[in-house]
Amino acid sequence: MWTADDLKDLVRERLGDYLFIVVANRQPYVHTFNKGKIECRRSVGGVVSALDPVMQACQGLWVAHGNGDADKQRADAQGKLKVPPEDPRYVLKRIWMTKKEEEEFYYGYSNEALWPLSHTAFRRPVFEKGDWETYQKINERFARAVIEEIGDKKAFVWIQDYHLCLLPKYLKELAPKQLIIAHFWHIPWANYEIFRICPQGKEILEGLLANDLLGFHTRYHCNNFLDVIDREVECKIDREKQAVVRGDHQTLIRPYPISADFEGINRMVDEPQRGTLQESFISEYNLQDQKIILGVDRIDYTKGIPEKILAIDMLLDNHPELKGKVMFWQIGVVTRLHIAEYKKLNDEINALVEQVNWKHATDGWKPVVLVRRQFFLKELVAIYNLADVMVVGALHDGMNLVAKEYVAARKDEKGALVLSQFTGAARELTEAVLINPYDREQFSEGLWTALNFTEEERGKRMRKMREVLKVNNIFRWSGKIISELLSFEFKE
Ligand code: UDP
Repeated sequence: MWTADDLKDLVRERLGDYLFIVVANRQPYVHTFNKGKIECRRSVGGVVSALDPVMQACQGLWVAHGNGDADKQRADAQGKLKVPPEDPRYVLKRIWMTKKEEEEFYYGYSNEALWPLSHTAFRRPVFEKGDWETYQKINERFARAVIEEIGDKKAFVWIQDYHLCLLPKYLKELAPKQLIIAHFWHIPWANYEIFRICPQGKEILEGLLANDLLGFHTRYHCNNFLDVIDREVECKIDREKQAVVRGDHQTLIRPYPISADFEGINRMVDEPQRGTLQESFISEYNLQDQKIILGVDRIDYTKGIPEKILAIDMLLDNHPELKGKVMFWQIGVVTRLHIAEYKKLNDEINALVEQVNWKHATDGWKPVVLVRRQFFLKELVAIYNLADVMVVGALHDGMNLVAKEYVAARKDEKGALVLSQFTGAARELTEAVLINPYDREQFSEGLWTALNFTEEERGKRMRKMREVLKVNNIFRWSGKIISELLSFEFKE
């Protein structure tokens, strides 16, 4: 089983004198103003939890967008500072964007073009010339920020996600012999029929093929990528090696399913404050004496939140005896609200909650409670342990960490998972009740099945899923990628 210490040992042993650089849009530490004072907090999310210890061990460099309102105050003239602030170990280099650049790079090309293009959720991608120009400009800015730091040294670079498709190519153009680059694509990769509508498709593929290693969550996404390459780019595909070969350069294409911090979450389950948190949630959200079906998502059109509410509606139509006894508790973190599609979705969800509650409510009971708030992982662990059934209805999702966190948190082996078959997680969590969120009857029957599991059935399924996640944890994910990256040799 991989641990944070194994990761540290790996980089210490294999990195030698080379630099280790992570490039991501998201920074590991953010500075913000709070009541006139500057506060620093570590960003939430699996990638930061997995890579922060590695960076601390190898004293690496993390290049990211400085998006906190007090970030400039805490960085030097080159945007650099040492982190973590209480025990500085590695350098965070912040790059800056104007509001307009953020609008066009982050909200525009990344999230209005590439996000809907990659997720088959039937939202039309928007390709604006200005957004694309800014996307190129910001990728160049990230490249210069890396190059400024390496001087004449050699470095292993690990790039994160779809915001930085062009970065590998820009980097290799600037320092062809000094860099070995891996890139992890955290979202799905669309099939050719969808990808080919992208007007900048060729440039995106050229950018990504400058990587030495390119990772996706599942083999299915690797295969989609290889099919797209096969039809769009002149090259040789080595199926045996799972590599794209062009001239003397090859890009390895590999699946690496990301995961949760299984042990860390299990430790949180044992913390005494969990009970106190649970009591306060029960009274705050009126959860007494009911079975709870839980959903936890960013409010995003790929997450199938309307589909979940409609499945609950059908469940209550078909099984009215559940009224007053079962509730659907949906936690929704509001994101990307100033993109029109997200605003529309929020309005649609409000209307549906209203409609379903109006239809089924009885004295003092309503079936759907929607909480628009972001919780800390510690709080989520308490919440996961209150849920009889966890429901993930994503229409398409690279992985879905919430599903894995729920399983990791159910140390008591209680609780059942209803999981969309269109998530990466469904490939590993085969003991979940797998559903098609587009099929309302099947979805609501899946909920009914999970609610009615015997204790034995529930325990058996949860135990099997926990065994999978215990081994396939977040440190294994980063360990596998870093091992592969560090095994490349620099060209002389
Ligand atoms: N999350 C959180 N607070 C919340 C809701 C979610 O910290 O109130 C975290 C959750 O623990 C998980 C991540 O957000 O690690 C969501 O990851 P997932 O892969 O499920 O979806 P994404 O939002 O990345 O598409």
